[in-house]
Amino acid sequence: MDFDVLVIGGGPGGYVAAIRAAQLGAKTALVEKEELGGTCLNRGCIPTKALLAASEKVAEIKQAEKFGISVSGLKVDFERMIERKNAVVNRLRGGVNFLLQKNKVKVFKGTAGFLDGRTVQISRGGENEKATAAKIIIATGSVPRRLNIPGNAEGVLDSDDVLNLRELPESLVIIGGGVIGVEFGSIFSNLGTKVTIVEIMDRILPQVDRELAGLLLNQLKKKGITVLTGSKVEEVRKAGSRNVVLVSRGGSAGAEVVADKVLVAPGRVPFVEGLNLEAAGVAWSREGIAVSEDLTTSIDHIYAIGDVTGGVQLAHLASAQGIRAAEHAAGRKSYISMKYVPSCIYTDPEVASAGFTEEELQQKGIAYKAARFPLQASGKALAMGYEEGLVKILYDPEFGEVLGVHMVAPRATDIIAEAVLAMRAELTVAEIATTIHAHPTLSEALLEAAHVAHGTPIHSA
Ligand code: FAD
Repeated sequence: MDFDVLVIGGGPGGYVAAIRAAQLGAKTALVEKEELGGTCLNRGCIPTKALLAASEKVAEIKQAEKFGISVSGLKVDFERMIERKNAVVNRLRGGVNFLLQKNKVKVFKGTAGFLDGRTVQISRGGENEKATAAKIIIATGSVPRRLNIPGNAEGVLDSDDVLNLRELPESLVIIGGGVIGVEFGSIFSNLGTKVTIVEIMDRILPQVDRELAGLLLNQLKKKGITVLTGSKVEEVRKAGSRNVVLVSRGGSAGAEVVADKVLVAPGRVPFVEGLNLEAAGVAWSREGIAVSEDLTTSIDHIYAIGDVTGGVQLAHLASAQGIRAAEHAAGRKSYISMKYVPSCIYTDPEVASAGFTEEELQQKGIAYKAARFPLQASGKALAMGYEEGLVKILYDPEFGEVLGVHMVAPRATDIIAEAVLAMRAELTVAEIATTIHAHPTLSEALLEAAHVAHGTPIHSA
């Protein structure tokens, strides 16, 4: 065998798996057909957050007056924002490359396809080479789902295209009110684009706790974003340089929305093209490659991790699965816990959740109580200029064990880490309530919600 472990795909699942395998002494290779870092680094988490950070500066400047600061001459140079975003991505990509080299992972540039269960062919620019490995980890990720929308598709963008616009659109219709649609809506609205989100379901963010999704919806509307729920895009037509989006509601012909650009964000599908999984005997379906708890596929020595396995598509889950698969492949017991996966939405304010939602607990018939702490009672939130938001803890009524935590708050995506740790350690609301949290911080909102649950509320009536 040429290698002990060969990883296909250099995203946050694949490159992390390769580093861990190499750290455990495996002779390791990684094959990547495009850029190291995958969707997350090149077309996902990082570029969106770089643009979001820039757009939040603009939003803050626009609100400066309420902090006693007068600003004039605000000008958004969108092209420079895109250049800065590219610089951040390039720098991090260099970092991934450095880490792989340092851990002595052999990196192949090309597309990997199975020839048999232990051999892959790596193709690049018409040239092929072969590599064999005792264990193979598939980490080929996902690609944007295509929607067949009647009309002229020219000018309709997916999430990859929108990150490379050179000009800020005056108006944007986003088809899909899921995480990606809502995050792009926030970014462009902050920058001054007139944004309309069209969502076919009766609510945005269907996987998020209903109360929180409702709170965020109000915030988006306050920002000036138009949200059309229960609405379907029937057609997109070109009208000069703009697009006319025909939206129907409840089966009846509805409004026409005119926009410079249209972004299609209906989610992503697992990517297995070119892998030739049949040659290795790996079972798969359009939902992705099914895996066991240890991330093995239908073939014991072949693993699959990350977005290609279907289900929750998050970079941190892909990385955790990468570590677990690498440890299993190296014959080690893995202590990585997959039980609680934090889920974050980077809007303003942010949304973060972990554990059960109220709807899930009701469906499963699990008894629970909910404790809420509104952000308007948080000194830090008010000082920062936030008056709306909520931290909600769902807990076992008998023992007080934390079952779920949901928040709409600035920096909720950072605070959720404490909730995940609490749930993993099976802590109770009493243990959170009796732990000192620094003042003034936003993390106190979690403490205060725990106080409410524990029956010792201090800063709420
Ligand atoms: P990917 O990152 O998709 O990497 C797969 C890699 O495999 C790619 O580089 C691809 O070129 C390569 N590949 C595919 N086939 C082959 C082959 N045959 N041979 C060689 N190489 C191959 N997640 C979060 O957790 N937080 C966020 O804030 C967040 N924001 C996002 C924003 C956007 C706009 C998008 C689109 C996604 C976002 N995600 C976010 C999701 C996150 O990017 C994915 O969950 C994550 O990248 C999945 O990692 P992965 O390693 O499974 O696959």
